[in-house]
Amino acid sequence: MPLQDQLYSYFELDQRVRAMRSRLDGATRRRDAQQRKLEQLQQASAELNQQLKVAKAHAATLEGEADEIETRIVAQRDKMNNVTSNKEYSALLVEVNTLKADKSKIDDAQLESMTKADTLTAEYEALSAKVDSQQKLVAGATKDVAEAESEVGDKLKELEAERDAAGEPLDADIRKTFDRLSHTYDGEAMAEISEQDRRRMEYTCGGCYTLLPVESVNSLITKPDQLTTCGTCNRILYVSTELRESLAAGK
Ligand SMILES: [Zn+2]
Repeated sequence: MPLQDQLYSYFELDQRVRAMRSRLDGATRRRDAQQRKLEQLQQASAELNQQLKVAKAHAATLEGEADEIETRIVAQRDKMNNVTSNKEYSALLVEVNTLKADKSKIDDAQLESMTKADTLTAEYEALSAKVDSQQKLVAGATKDVAEAESEVGDKLKELEAERDAAGEPLDADIRKTFDRLSHTYDGEAMAEISEQDRRRMEYTCGGCYTLLPVESVNSLITKPDQLTTCGTCNRILYVSTELRESLAAGK
C-alpha cells in the first residue's frame, strides 16, 4: 500500500475514534458541569442553614432575656403594692420604668431577629428546592454517561486497536508529524486537495484553501510514497480516489 493510502486509512480511523470519543467526552463534561453546580448549591445551602441557626439562636437568647426582665418587673410591681413610703414607691417606679425601657429594646431586637430568621428560612427553602432539582439533573447526566459508555465503550476500544494497527507500518517520524498536526488542527492532520481549474492546474488545500503550487500537486499524483504537505498550513495533503483516477485517465 502506498504511503499516502496508509496515511489516509490511519487518518480516517483516527477521525472515527475522535468522533466516538467526543460523544463520551461530551457526556462526561456535561455530567461534571452539573455536579459542580450541585456542589456550589449545596455549599450555599449549608452556609445559609448555618446563618439560619445563628439567627434562631440569637432570637431565642433575646426571648430569654426579655422573659427574665418581665419576671423582675412583676417582682418590683409586687413590692410597689406593699411599700409604705412615697420615696420607696417612686424609687421602685423609676426602676420598673427603666426595666420596661430595657425590655422594649430587647423586644425590638428579638422581633428583628425573628424577621431575619423568617427571611432566611424562605431563602433556605427556595435553595433546597434548587438543590433537589439539581440533584435530578446530575442523576440524569450520570445516566447519560453510563449509556454513552455502554454504547461506545467496546466499539471505541475496537476502533482504537484498528487505528493503532493502521498506524503501525508508518515511519516514526511521519507518525510524529501526523500526531503534531492532529493536535494543532484538532484531528484534521490531513487535507484533501480540491480542483479549481484543471486546464490551468489550479488546486487548493482543503484545510486552508490556499492555492497549491503545481509541483505539490504533481508530486502528490506521481509520488504516492512521499509525504506532501501544504506549504501554508503544513497539513498532509491527499487526493481523492475519484480525482486521482480522473487525472490518470486524462493523461
Ligand atoms: Zn493548507
